[in-house]
Amino acid sequence: MIHPDSELRWAGDHIGWGVFATAPIPRGTIVYVRDELEVEVSAAQFDTLHPLQARFVHRYGYRDERGNWIVSIDNGRFINHCCSSNTLSTGYGFEVAVRDIEPGEQITDDYGLLNLDYAMECGCGSAECRGQIRPDDLAFHHERWDAVCRQILPCLIDVPQPLGELLPAATWQRISSFLAGDESSFRTVRDLAGDNLAAASVFQQ
Ligand SMILES: [Zn+2]
Repeated sequence: MIHPDSELRWAGDHIGWGVFATAPIPRGTIVYVRDELEVEVSAAQFDTLHPLQARFVHRYGYRDERGNWIVSIDNGRFINHCCSSNTLSTGYGFEVAVRDIEPGEQITDDYGLLNLDYAMECGCGSAECRGQIRPDDLAFHHERWDAVCRQILPCLIDVPQPLGELLPAATWQRISSFLAGDESSFRTVRDLAGDNLAAASVFQQ
């Protein structure tokens, strides 16, 4: 589920639809939670889908660490990629605002953490644009993304969290433990790759 202070808007003929903030979303705000309403399609199920269904899931879904396709039932599936995105996936099952998001600003995400099964050309226009978003991005960029997560996690308790109750208590407990200094409670984003990275390394060859 996506943050309630957001809406779908046309982002231009080149980009299509995008999700835009309708109110200030401070740094540290949980912007997306993978909750029980998300549609989950296993890799085996995906192979049995009608081509029209498969196209929809492939276009709007992302893959979790077990290789399942996850499709948001709300506008979350319309979030666009940016190489300097204002939200970032964490290893805890949610995405977080990594800087303040102003009303009217497009909410963006980095698809490099979503286990693409193909290399996506990128023309996001940011100074940090990688040019191509690849299935194996997590292998190469996880340390940088983890560093951002470590900076952001302490902010979680300082800002309103409309989606906070959708996060399992055990996840909050784990975050609390990390913030209290328990390094073993940190969940690296590299784990988001899971089984997918082995396939991605085949792609790289
Ligand atoms: Zn880019």
